[in-house]
Amino acid sequence: MRIDLHTHSLASDGTETPADVVAAARAAGLDALALTDHDTTRGWAEATDAAVRLGVWLVPGIEISTRIDGISVHLLGYLIDPDALGLLNEIERARESRRGRAGRMVELLARDHPITVDDVRAQVADGATIGRPHIADALVANGVVPNRSAAFTHLLADDGPYHVPYYAPDPVEAVRLVREAGGVPVMAHPFAGRRGRVVDDEVIRRMASAGLAGLEADHRDHDEAERDHARRLATDLGLLVTGSSDYHGDGKPNRIGENLTAPEVLEQIEAQAAGPTRVVRG
Ligand code: AMP
Ligand code: ZN
Ligand code: FE
Ligand code: FE
Repeated sequence: MRIDLHTHSLASDGTETPADVVAAARAAGLDALALTDHDTTRGWAEATDAAVRLGVWLVPGIEISTRIDGISVHLLGYLIDPDALGLLNEIERARESRRGRAGRMVELLARDHPITVDDVRAQVADGATIGRPHIADALVANGVVPNRSAAFTHLLADDGPYHVPYYAPDPVEAVRLVREAGGVPVMAHPFAGRRGRVVDDEVIRRMASAGLAGLEADHRDHDEAERDHARRLATDLGLLVTGSSDYHGDGKPNRIGENLTAPEVLEQIEAQAAGPTRVVRG
């Protein structure tokens, strides 16, 4: 089986509808995919319908934004109960904070570049989690930069002049909340140094003690040494190892299915799920 456990749709900062992401998975010859939009499960219903229609397995998931010591940590949560209040409160708080933060970043950017809040709003699908990629799309539409990646090299960079942080829970707490929601927490791209600062192994050790299930080792933002490090640490801590594309449609060069997860690992993820959400066997 060919399995990709990390993709994004228009429910967050991907450029395709959830149904089109499932169709892309199928066209790429995948048997299973996880839809893991940032801080939302809004894409699940449409993706489920498409998975059933197209005969693909769907693992309903989410990518939770967390932060510790100013370092951004992304936590994938598979098969969570989307109505579990503890987790829901945190992601709603993050989504609300993201809205204010986008406005503030646009204010700062507008001092030097042609961009308005309405320009950004025009790039965000109804109810989607707003993020820097939407600001990037507005900058592209206004001719400031040629594409999303160019927007991130300076204007939207973590340490750039216009960056504003948003509320994000502690990663150890987020692991606990994913388990409380019956889900299976896997740390996304743990050592992707090229994306920004990454946490020490000690933080991952504490996440493991709180119930972390796995590490995403095979990801395009990891070089060979970083993949090895992730695999070694996973062995050390008794964690699963996944590989995924982090597909964002046209928003990033990542191609769906470019990294894969072993079928036994998906089996273990499913076995650990303790809530009402199940893999959709389309
Ligand atoms: P935010 O959560 O709003 O701070 O935005 C972070 C998101 O921007 C990440 O989840 C990525 O999907 C996206 N991103 C980060 N770097 C880049 C890049 N170089 N090109 C395109 N998208 C990026
Ligand atoms: Zn994203
Ligand atoms: Fe991520
Ligand atoms: Fe992602």
